[in-house]
Amino acid sequence: MPVSVAIVGSGPAGFYTADALLKSDADVRIDIIERLPTPFGLIRDGVAPDHQTTKKISAKFGHTALRDEVRFYGNVKVGRDVGLAELRRIYDAVVLCVGAPLDRALHIPGEDKSGVYGSAAFVGWYNGHPDFRDLDPDLNTSAVAVVGVGNVAIDVARVLVKTKAEMAASDLPEYADRVIRASPLTDVHVLGRRGPVEAKFTNVELREMGRLEDCVPVVDPAQLPDGVGDLPDRDLRLKEKNLATLREFAGRGSEDKAKRVHFQFYAAPVEILGGDRVEGLRLERTRIDGGRAVGSGEFFTIECGVVIAAIGYRAGPIEGAPFDADRHIVSNADGRIDEGLYAAGWIMRGPTGVISSNRADGVTVAERIRADFPQGIKPGREAFDTLLGERAVRHVSYAEWQKIDAAEVGNATPPAPRRKFVTIKEMLAVLDDTAARRSVG
Ligand SMILES: Cc1cc2nc3c(=O)[nH]c(=O)nc-3n(C[C@H](O)[C@H](O)[C@H](O)COP(=O)(O)OP(=O)(O)OC[C@H]3O[C@@H](n4cnc5c(N)ncnc54)[C@H](O)[C@@H]3O)c2cc1C
Repeated sequence: MPVSVAIVGSGPAGFYTADALLKSDADVRIDIIERLPTPFGLIRDGVAPDHQTTKKISAKFGHTALRDEVRFYGNVKVGRDVGLAELRRIYDAVVLCVGAPLDRALHIPGEDKSGVYGSAAFVGWYNGHPDFRDLDPDLNTSAVAVVGVGNVAIDVARVLVKTKAEMAASDLPEYADRVIRASPLTDVHVLGRRGPVEAKFTNVELREMGRLEDCVPVVDPAQLPDGVGDLPDRDLRLKEKNLATLREFAGRGSEDKAKRVHFQFYAAPVEILGGDRVEGLRLERTRIDGGRAVGSGEFFTIECGVVIAAIGYRAGPIEGAPFDADRHIVSNADGRIDEGLYAAGWIMRGPTGVISSNRADGVTVAERIRADFPQGIKPGREAFDTLLGERAVRHVSYAEWQKIDAAEVGNATPPAPRRKFVTIKEMLAVLDDTAARRSVG
């Protein structure tokens, strides 16, 4: 009997795990269970809408989904439509690949004011994630502060300052485009507690900020150290490149561009100012002591109408799985949680790294499953289908996702690659319309 595996979550970790299981020559049946009707996790909903090349990896995952051994069950949420304990009863192995979708808080006074957003929500909004379609951020402000100096902070800043022409080949939803175009925004402040060497952005993303049509990067040369200090070889090259890019930025003038992205280092937010709405951000100058930012006692204020915290993500507890509340991940030892229960990707090791960083997790878990289950003993798919049928769960197959995909692509005005459906209702309506046409025809 084949080993039955349920993978919960269809982001990179889910697909890399499926891929590794298929490559292992094990006799497996893999069901990928995804809460949205759309697959691919943050590739669709996190990677920036103007970085379409990065999203192309989903085509490779699509091949995996179409393998005979694999079935996709979209629109099925574990914890709502089916319990984890139920899955464990039905499948030999269950792999949690549900990511880390929650924002980390700034934990400073004023965080509850209107105009403060976490990057998970804000990025979800401009990417058309159904959970955040109604976020409706008020961008009626000339200045936005983005707290964080990683790639997500840069993505947010870039999407806010790019021109309509620069976003033409993106899949930015129309509602987000309208709000961004109507905004009088001129200045985005990208703020890091630590220095340029400690900043996490990759060089390609940073350099892109110097090539924007109507926006110039602003860097204070006094904040740039002479060198990057002692670092391991791999880090050294990246940090040297970043420093060189920032030096180049620091030497530039306004270039008659309407917008500016200010990179401010050594600045720790201490309070969000204003009444009900954000009116500014108070920060403390820091210095680096043993790699950590320590306050200097000197404070300053940036006037801004919006604060976006791009300081990282965290996972939430999953009913039926032990949770490490300090690390905000599921408690696990190298991907193993309990007998027949595993985890991969951000839920397993925290929200770090790029898409391909999740590949190794998938390989590790696949090896463990193979070692733990020479053959299957539980019914898997058949019992799952019965359960979904009894509960009348409207699940979306991979072929149905392909119809949604085709409709999104068909609705786009080139060079936009697709016009995303942004509610689950709209997505399911595409399928029901197709079914209705078929029955009429
Ligand atoms: C804003 C942002 C931009 C990024 N940009 C890039 C980039 O340009 N290049 C790059 O290489 N990396 C990028 N990354 C990193 C990359 O996206 C992650 O490494 C990767 O997506 C993590 O994979 P994952 O499978 O663990 O989680 P996710 O991609 O989050 O996938 C988790 C999946 O599980 C599903 N799920 C959650 N709960 C349930 C449930 N209860 N039942 C069923 N399904 C569930 C979710 O809907 C989702 O589809 C970015 C990350 C972010 C946050």
